[in-house]
Amino acid sequence: MIARVTLEIALRREFDYSIPPDLEGEVEVGSRVKVPFGAREVTGCVTALVDQSRHANLRPISKVIGGQSFITPKVLELARWIANYYCCPIEVAVKSLLPEAVRKEEAGWRERLVVRALPRESEIPKLNKRQAELWKMIQTFGQIPLRELIEKAATTADTVRRLEDKGLVSIAPEISERDPYAHEKILPTVPLPLNPEQIHALTQITRAMTKGGAANSQAVFLLHGVTGSGKTEIYLQAIAHALEQGRGAIVLVPEISLTPQTVERFKARFSSGRLQTLVAVLHSHLSAGERHDEWHKIRQGRARIVIGARSAIFAPVERLGLIIVDEEHEHSYKQEEAPRYNARDVAVVRGQMENAVVVLGSATPSLESYYNVRRGKYALLELPVRVDEKRMPVVRIVDMRKENRKQKGTPVFSEQLKEAIHKRLDESQQTILFLNRRGYSTSLQCTNCGYVAQCPNCSLALTYHRQAQQLRCHICNYQGSVPKICPEPKCGNPGIRYSGLGTERVEEMLVKLFPHARIRRMDSDTLKRKEDYRRILGDFRVGKIDILVGTQMIAKGLHFPNVTLVGIIYADLGLHIPDFRAGERTFQLLTQVAGRAGRGEVEGEVIVQAFTPFHPAIQYARRHDFTGFYEQEIEFREQLNYPPISRIALLTLKGRNEEKVEFSATHLRKELESMAGDSDGKGAPDPILAGPAPAPLARAESNYRYQIMARTKRMPRLSESLAKLSRTVSLPDGVTLSIDIDPVNLS
Ligand code: ADP
Ligand code: ZN
Repeated sequence: MIARVTLEIALRREFDYSIPPDLEGEVEVGSRVKVPFGAREVTGCVTALVDQSRHANLRPISKVIGGQSFITPKVLELARWIANYYCCPIEVAVKSLLPEAVRKEEAGWRERLVVRALPRESEIPKLNKRQAELWKMIQTFGQIPLRELIEKAATTADTVRRLEDKGLVSIAPEISERDPYAHEKILPTVPLPLNPEQIHALTQITRAMTKGGAANSQAVFLLHGVTGSGKTEIYLQAIAHALEQGRGAIVLVPEISLTPQTVERFKARFSSGRLQTLVAVLHSHLSAGERHDEWHKIRQGRARIVIGARSAIFAPVERLGLIIVDEEHEHSYKQEEAPRYNARDVAVVRGQMENAVVVLGSATPSLESYYNVRRGKYALLELPVRVDEKRMPVVRIVDMRKENRKQKGTPVFSEQLKEAIHKRLDESQQTILFLNRRGYSTSLQCTNCGYVAQCPNCSLALTYHRQAQQLRCHICNYQGSVPKICPEPKCGNPGIRYSGLGTERVEEMLVKLFPHARIRRMDSDTLKRKEDYRRILGDFRVGKIDILVGTQMIAKGLHFPNVTLVGIIYADLGLHIPDFRAGERTFQLLTQVAGRAGRGEVEGEVIVQAFTPFHPAIQYARRHDFTGFYEQEIEFREQLNYPPISRIALLTLKGRNEEKVEFSATHLRKELESMAGDSDGKGAPDPILAGPAPAPLARAESNYRYQIMARTKRMPRLSESLAKLSRTVSLPDGVTLSIDIDPVNLS
């Protein structure tokens, strides 16, 4: 037998190795192995077992890592699909299948020595007083970790060993699993009786799952329900159904929503009873050791439910019955480095491959998913009302152009918003203020000559951070000092000033306006450690904070009953950027932020301040009208042939020498044009090419960036051509090409 192996060192191909007799039976598809490569030994993954090789004199595999193969054949098939569709070498796709903690084997199982009392039939040997006391103590415990015993009995390891010598106790290493949630108190919960809409949705899902054995019965559902409409309860009951059928489930949530509360809801439901199983959690805040243990609980089949962020889609769950992608519209499902996969889309593919049902949930579905509903590819399930029948908050829009005429200088708080905050302070209710820009001001500008402080490495203005007294680049994190006078040699004007607005400045202005209010800011500048997030939210929950100011961090899934006012400082901040999804993103963000108000007894109010108050994204968000927004947005996408009508491949060339980058981009465009069969079958060109042009972010981290955009109706075919092209095209030294299929970030 011969094993085909991908190597972790990037070589874009697979190699054949022979299986030596002593490893026969141990090497399987998905096994991780050590193999000789040149003079070195490298790690690889077996992708196939074959009878013959085109090569003679194969070298043998040296070693198999771990007993059980790490990658199941189904997951390996998924990696192949990723490599093909997202145009990346197979070894890059395979590498992303395993968490680093599992791949690197640095943190293995944690073992500790455990002391056990041995059964005694014959006489007890002679013991001195200290030994006798210790022996008595061990007997009452039965078994106890050695270290704990030493502490409790104020004794030494030697004394315990003495008892071992006398045959009274055993001391042996045992695996002790790390449990990241060991400190959470988890009370079991039972399924809630569902309302009619929930029953309908759940029935559709479970019916599809029951049909699961039959061919082509695969089903993808889009569960569209406002926050608080009971989506999570449906997830829980659908998972129970999967477990009943002896199948497992994967739940994907955005990293930021992976709070202990979310995890607890899943653990609580399956912590006891007939369907009891371990719930494994995979995300980046765990230690390497915890991640190792959680992953192996899944691989060994002890955990049948996995909840995690993006990469949990590769969890080695066998007999997978259900995949849930919560907040499916979230851009964090897209990985911004190779392999540049979107976990939501990979979920749908995995569902197809494994005959599992896929549920995509959101209050503001992506245009892509809703379009798939309209085309009959996904089935729509709707939960139009909140479970408690609380009304959606009233949304008022303030025209900031009028405020601009009333106040001097650019207005930050309208009269209406100020009044509303005062009212909440008087009534001991809480307020959330939202501005999606951190720092103090956007830029530092000279009023005389127009000089703007720029990052030396990026084509971006530096942001002024007041507390740190620094200018910072939000791309490369360059930090510079703040000039007192204009640094232009011919100018030197002391009238240099800050323009634009960030959360830091909003906080400062609030303190002046409401000197008695307790105000806190939450953005990535104030959250230095991972506990900070929980601590600030904890303080807010118990009412120690009156006004919380923050960036999109506070937009997500938070539930505070005492928040009756949400203010959005500049709603149109993200509208006028060069990205065709700007409107969609703004609609989603406003809807999500507005959803934070009025989760308790008192009705909520949302004040949206905007300079373009009649923009459709703002108007439809005001009316909580998703389908209205969809209809007008899809028309715009159709006119311009943007996704979801077509798909995009974005090619970015980067390098320090601008001329070389531009030249390479022009050359690449010619190569793309000459690719054969460029037609959609009806005579229209496919792909449609645009560029090369400097990227919206023309320079980042000292690299010039040029882009070519290709739009197509047949992405698999284009991916194939691009993969071929990326292997054959010759680029000058210092210029690199990256290919992003279905990009979410166009800058
Ligand atoms: P979503 O995931 O859509 O935000 P949840 O499932 O979290 O909604 O439900 C919101 C709240 O309503 C939760 O506290 C949940 O326990 C409760 N809930 C959900 N379904 C029901 C139901 N059928 N009856 C009573 N309470 C429910
Ligand atoms: Zn920079």
